[in-house]
Amino acid sequence: MKQKLEALKIEALAKLQEVADPQALNDLRVKYLGKKGELTEVLRGMGGLSAEERPVIGQVVNDVRGAIEEIITAKQEAFQQQETQNRLQAEKVDVTLPGRSMAQGGIHPLTRVVQEIEDIFIGMGYRVAEGPEVETDYYNFEALNLPKNHPARDMQDSFYLTDDLLMRTQTSPVQIRTMQGMKGEAPVKIICPGKVFRRDDDDATHSFQFHQVEGLVIGRNIRMSDLKGTLQQFVQEMFGPHTGIRLRPSFFPFTEPSVEVDVSCFKCGGDGCRLCKQTGWLEILGAGMVHPKVLEMGGYDPAEFSGFAFGMGVERIAMLKYGIDDIRNFYNNDMSFVKQFKGV
Ligand SMILES: [Zn+2]
Repeated sequence: MKQKLEALKIEALAKLQEVADPQALNDLRVKYLGKKGELTEVLRGMGGLSAEERPVIGQVVNDVRGAIEEIITAKQEAFQQQETQNRLQAEKVDVTLPGRSMAQGGIHPLTRVVQEIEDIFIGMGYRVAEGPEVETDYYNFEALNLPKNHPARDMQDSFYLTDDLLMRTQTSPVQIRTMQGMKGEAPVKIICPGKVFRRDDDDATHSFQFHQVEGLVIGRNIRMSDLKGTLQQFVQEMFGPHTGIRLRPSFFPFTEPSVEVDVSCFKCGGDGCRLCKQTGWLEILGAGMVHPKVLEMGGYDPAEFSGFAFGMGVERIAMLKYGIDDIRNFYNNDMSFVKQFKGV
């Protein structure tokens, strides 16, 4: 029996020594030490031993068990260490690697100028109104005192989609829509920023699409002096406190009288420079008192109400303000151009 135990011990230790993973180790533990294990099997046979033999064999059994348990414990620890090592290796983070930076966007210069204009007029109690870019002939022309065959329609070569639908050539239709929506209520104080479209060949200063901001005020006793005061206030906030304005007679079908509004050059202060072509003035706005026919189309009685309107090109203002010499820069998505305005 003693020999059997020694053989068992040698076999068990050899197998345990070669064991490669925790599952195999556990299988061997059950094989030798389990309830139905080989060592237990030997112990069962001890009943047939003599009283002298029993303690001797008992001692051998304990030795064998001890040796097997010892190697199992050592193997378990080794496996655990290996596992920890593997996990640390897998979760390893190299804190010295450079970080990934998030690309931060900037606001497009046209959007920036529109927001600036909006802020100034909102500060004066205006609200922002918007309308569709595809318009009917009625809203784009007729209601603005431009009946069919009116010669001034030629000033605005248009993109017609059907006989009656076109890409709006100005943001003025929003003024008519707003007036009609007010159903004769006053005052009206709105600005209408938006994209407009004209059949034009693109070059450094022309584009088939551009942006306008128009303004409209309607109420009782609205006078030309109110228009002038409003625009004076606007240009001072937009271009600096020393900016002046100059009104020149002009013609628009939807205003009477009509004026072109020049602002004193904000670069040279009026002395004359390249930006203002040595005149000291920059042409920036068109304006006038709302034509009585337009008031009527909008649902207001010209005998009781009056109003003024003005409009400006956003691209022109942005070009003057930021010294941009080609309008196409705004649209061709050249990142090196757009990035210059980050944080301006
Ligand atoms: Zn100048």
